[in-house]
Amino acid sequence: MPIRILSPEVASQIAAGEVVERPASVVKELVENALDAGARSVTVEIASAGRTLMRVVDDGVGIPPTELALAIERHATSKLASAEDLFRIATLGFRGEALASIGSVSRLTITSCTFDSPAGARLHVEGGRIGRLEKTGAPVGTVVSVEDLFYNVPARLKFLKQDATERRAIDALVTRYALAYPMVRFKLIEDNTISLNTAGDGDRRAILAALYGVDVSRQMLEIMADEDGFKLTGFISPTALTRSNRKEITFFVNGRWVQDTPLTSALLQAYHTLLMVGRYPLASIFIEVPPEEVDVNVHPAKAEVRFRSPDKVFSFVQRSTRRALLAYTPVPQLVPQNLWGVPSPPGQIDPTWSLAHDFEDEKQNQESGIQPSGADLQSPILNLQSAISHIPLLRLIGQIGATYLVAEGPDGLYLIDQHAAHERVLFEKLMTQFVQQNIPSQSLLSPVVVELSRLSAELLSTQIPVLLRLGFHIEPFGQNSYQVRAMPALFADSDPAAALRALGEDFEEDEAPLQNKIEAKIAGRVCKRLAVKAGQVLSPDEQHALLADLENCTSPRTCPHGRPTMIHLSVDMLERQFGRKGPR
Ligand code: ADP
Ligand code: MG
Repeated sequence: MPIRILSPEVASQIAAGEVVERPASVVKELVENALDAGARSVTVEIASAGRTLMRVVDDGVGIPPTELALAIERHATSKLASAEDLFRIATLGFRGEALASIGSVSRLTITSCTFDSPAGARLHVEGGRIGRLEKTGAPVGTVVSVEDLFYNVPARLKFLKQDATERRAIDALVTRYALAYPMVRFKLIEDNTISLNTAGDGDRRAILAALYGVDVSRQMLEIMADEDGFKLTGFISPTALTRSNRKEITFFVNGRWVQDTPLTSALLQAYHTLLMVGRYPLASIFIEVPPEEVDVNVHPAKAEVRFRSPDKVFSFVQRSTRRALLAYTPVPQLVPQNLWGVPSPPGQIDPTWSLAHDFEDEKQNQESGIQPSGADLQSPILNLQSAISHIPLLRLIGQIGATYLVAEGPDGLYLIDQHAAHERVLFEKLMTQFVQQNIPSQSLLSPVVVELSRLSAELLSTQIPVLLRLGFHIEPFGQNSYQVRAMPALFADSDPAAALRALGEDFEEDEAPLQNKIEAKIAGRVCKRLAVKAGQVLSPDEQHALLADLENCTSPRTCPHGRPTMIHLSVDMLERQFGRKGPR
């Protein structure tokens, strides 16, 4: 093909592709425009997850009728005059591209009125074609309606995710902007239902409550720091409140939501050694730096920024969050005592020691033909019926560090991780009952009402039937709350609220588990959350019962997630270690 200049339509669709990826990106640009216009109130209304309608109404300064047509031209902006301005940008927008891009892939209507214009004006754009300017009465401010996104780019439509996912992205976006701009009233209306309504009174904790539920919001630690021109405010979770991914870590830099991994790393460093491996904090952090310290023109959707002195910013974030964290974190009260009566915090067991022995154990297994039976969750039912790998009868000696059981078997010593073992026991019992379609469920004497985060509640609502099959009777109970009426009898002694919160949180972390594996997956999670924990002192009876239950399991050597439940120190190995037999 010869080289040709692209037609303006094609060129503008290519450009639009950078800015408008999904409904949430439209909402982002429109909300940013409203904030740039000084709005005190921003209402976002969507229908069908934004596919059919996204409307943003603001009470900002508005656009004079004479400039309305310009506003939707590409590279037309009121926020930038010269190239030097690029390095002292105080607005969210500056590229002059958003309205043009959105207008080229949707049916867009913009209505606006300024305080000094006698009437407002309206303009319609359809697939990039601009209609005629109409006069209209309108309050001061701007309304932008975007209908039928990607109606003229069917290929892009195919890339949209399920409605629930697109809606969540919009939810997350609006809530985060509401948090970043607590003095602005934000309202989000989804399919005629109000799902967020902030007061605009500066109370960030109230907005956090809308995002995570009152419980979590109360626990979040407020942080504030100020160091030669760099300011930081926001909330971070205490070390006891974590998630298994980084999705709840949000950074705003100069009022702009940025997806910046170095900033996240700085935060994680602050938590270093305070969290278990694989756990992450929740955080909403708002950083203010002098505009010339940050280059915002590095990403088409303005989702990244570059700092002039990155190290300075990162160490500022790390130091101030760490300081807050240590100030708030109480010294642990309950330190498990190890075998020698010396207090040792959990997780301080020499890793080389346990690794070496895990390995030894694995080798032993291979020698004795025992297959490690991890990853049960892939096919729990199959596993229950095959590959029976009973452990030998064990004689219980006792518990050490409130974490491990010690037992003697025909061939040496067994150290059993009480949590992993209990997880395995619960999982097999529950799955056996499930396969037999006979999960005894126990009604609670008085039903317990549990409040969840909006997202947890929504995800849980789709799994109520599955949970019912697993023995959990739960019912919606007002906004974001559920009533637990019954639990699987197996968990009768557990805290229903803890169980439900754990489930909700897990759903958040894994939004759409495959339907055919979902029961096993949920069962695995519940068992993990409700199994006895390391650090829990067990009575001799409880220790005996656990060991007996483990002996009855079909795959006793691993927890449902594939980690070992036990370490075996064979007589042979002990003899070698003590120099009783051959060279060490
Ligand atoms: P940018 O925000 O980068 O300037 P946009 O395409 O988003 O580019 O908007 C173009 C111009 O239209 C803005 O510079 C602003 O002058 C005007 N504008 C857009 N939305 C609004 C709004 N909600 N209120 C007031 N003016 C607006
Ligand atoms: Mg803009």
